Amino acid sequence: MSQETDQEGASLIELQEIDQKHHIHPFTAASALRQAPPFLIDGASGCYVSGQGIKLLDMMAGLGCVNVGYGRKEMVNTAAEAMQALSYYHSFSAVSNPTAAALSGLIANLAPEGMNRVFFANSGSEANETVLKLIRYYWRSKGKPEKKIILTRDYAYHGSTLATTALNGNPAMLEPYGLETETGIERVRAPYWYRQGGSDTPEQHWKKAAQDIEDKIIELGAENVAAMFVEPIQATMGAIIPPEGYLPEVERICRKYNVLLVADEVVTGLGRTGHWFAQETFGFKADIMTLAKGLSSGYVPISAVVLHDDIASVVEDGENIFQHGFTTSAHPVMAAVALRNIDILMKEGLVDRVRTDIGPYFAKKLASLADLPLVGEVRTCGLIAGIELVSDKTTRAQYPIEAGICSHVSQAALLRGVIVRPTGNNIVLCPPFIVTHKEIDAAVDVLAEALTEIENAIKAS
Ligand code: PMP
Repeated sequence: MSQETDQEGASLIELQEIDQKHHIHPFTAASALRQAPPFLIDGASGCYVSGQGIKLLDMMAGLGCVNVGYGRKEMVNTAAEAMQALSYYHSFSAVSNPTAAALSGLIANLAPEGMNRVFFANSGSEANETVLKLIRYYWRSKGKPEKKIILTRDYAYHGSTLATTALNGNPAMLEPYGLETETGIERVRAPYWYRQGGSDTPEQHWKKAAQDIEDKIIELGAENVAAMFVEPIQATMGAIIPPEGYLPEVERICRKYNVLLVADEVVTGLGRTGHWFAQETFGFKADIMTLAKGLSSGYVPISAVVLHDDIASVVEDGENIFQHGFTTSAHPVMAAVALRNIDILMKEGLVDRVRTDIGPYFAKKLASLADLPLVGEVRTCGLIAGIELVSDKTTRAQYPIEAGICSHVSQAALLRGVIVRPTGNNIVLCPPFIVTHKEIDAAVDVLAEALTEIENAIKAS
């Protein structure tokens, strides 16, 4: 290690320089980092993050994960105690540890009926990657090795490993890796009426989107289709909320053709929609679900794959060995932190709070932005929201993505002390479950100002 990278006593400016020189950031234009050094966040509490003398209201809960809020002493203490007791041991073969054992039981208790078997990984991507392997393994065990094709939707986000990237719906994420035409992955429509509905009514549109799945299965041959992946709410690409009836219809189609249904609840799981799982919110049941962000509120990396008994019994039949696992699967410290996180959600009634109090308030306040000229649609469910910006409210026409209108709006909000997330022509909000009515008021006021400022700038140009 050179002297330069020795962090002992380095000033903030030095650390920024070190970062600029050595740190490759995820999903970041290197040119942006060359122009300006990274903003160093070095503290956080409740719904606020701070750094370089600035405090910001984080209406994104990090990346939609810090559901119990930042800086919880009980989480810190739990991590320290757990690390003291058992800093690490693996879970391969017939070994486990008390916290991972307890967490698997607790997840099974909370999960929709019949989902009782849990595999642990470290990130949402790893959980979905695990599912892709499990699905292959399942159909081979069932004597149907040709059932391999995975259906995914436009606007999907399922991860960053090579295989999960191939499931994503954003061409910009696929093209650099030559994954647009990856064999074995087939794309179907998303229920995104506002952007893709044309002259159809919202109901006509979601029915066509669901029909698209059935048509695709028939075209490919059900004997070749293994599974369908759905994020109940397509969060990363703009908080696309499924219309009532759509997900139950997806389930009906999957069952009809013997296609496994995977609910990627990495964002929605553990309460974000006001129920423990979005399957309850939207009235459908998956065969497999994945959990990550809200499992530990982002305090430590941990994710889970939860299997229905019918799937697990095949995977675990006889002498089968599931040839898969990570060194840190079921890490005792991560599991302890996740247990404490769920304990906080339960003791403080935070999931109920999202459903009955703060979620409806969030929806009501954000709806007030819908009258602004730039705002085409405001979508909310529980504590996730997407604000879709348009150049023309009547035609739903959007500004060219290259114009970066959403980035300008979120930058204007940031300068007023509020973090929101621009994605395409949408602004996404995903605040911690402890967000107060006052914090929501403040954030909505700031967003109104930011939207008006950018609208005026567009007019002036
Ligand atoms: N699935 C969904 C629905 C996600 O939103 C994300 C992350 N944004 C992932 C999977 C991947 O999770 P991770 O970044 O932890 O790998």
